[in-house]
Amino acid sequence: MKIICIGRNYILHAKELNNPVPKIPVWFMKPETSLILKNRPFFYPEFSQDIHFETELVYHICKVGKYIEEKYAHTYYDSVGVGFDFTARDLQSEYKAKGLPWEPAKAFDGSAPVSSFIPISEIEDIHNINFSMNKNGLLTQKGNSKDMLFSIDRIIAYISQFVTLKIGDLIYTGTPAGVGPIEIGDKLEAYIGDKLMLSTRIK
Ligand code: ZN
Repeated sequence: MKIICIGRNYILHAKELNNPVPKIPVWFMKPETSLILKNRPFFYPEFSQDIHFETELVYHICKVGKYIEEKYAHTYYDSVGVGFDFTARDLQSEYKAKGLPWEPAKAFDGSAPVSSFIPISEIEDIHNINFSMNKNGLLTQKGNSKDMLFSIDRIIAYISQFVTLKIGDLIYTGTPAGVGPIEIGDKLEAYIGDKLMLSTRIK
């Protein structure tokens, strides 16, 4: 399986990092070894002093597809969850400045904790999903899928021009504003609506 992540998909987040608002989806990938499942802890790596959380809606792909038309894209995902796109911001800034790829800052082991998934059939309106994250019990990030620059359907149509989507792939759809650093001892809890979906301790 593969994990596809969208960058700069919320205008306020693009602005908080002084990035231009993209005209086409910005995307990158994480390997399977970046996943953290079942609320297991994240161990702070030695190569960074500035790991940031990004709280994102994550869609689960349920059908193989290539060159998927936007109008059929909704048949290619069956459930939605929430995940953290942990980012070594110090490395990312360095690589961005040099025009180098982002993988060391984004694709490291444990950089993608993910929740269990809610069937789409149980979601009232997938283009109006509230999600949020509490850090050490305090509301730290909140977003709504309606504020995405590129909807999940648009993302699938765009990405599937380049890569075949396969069953089990995950799409991280970008973070709203409010990103910030994590520290050893922190506890991050992510919600869809008022349902606690994901809890990650930083060790
Ligand atoms: Zn992200």
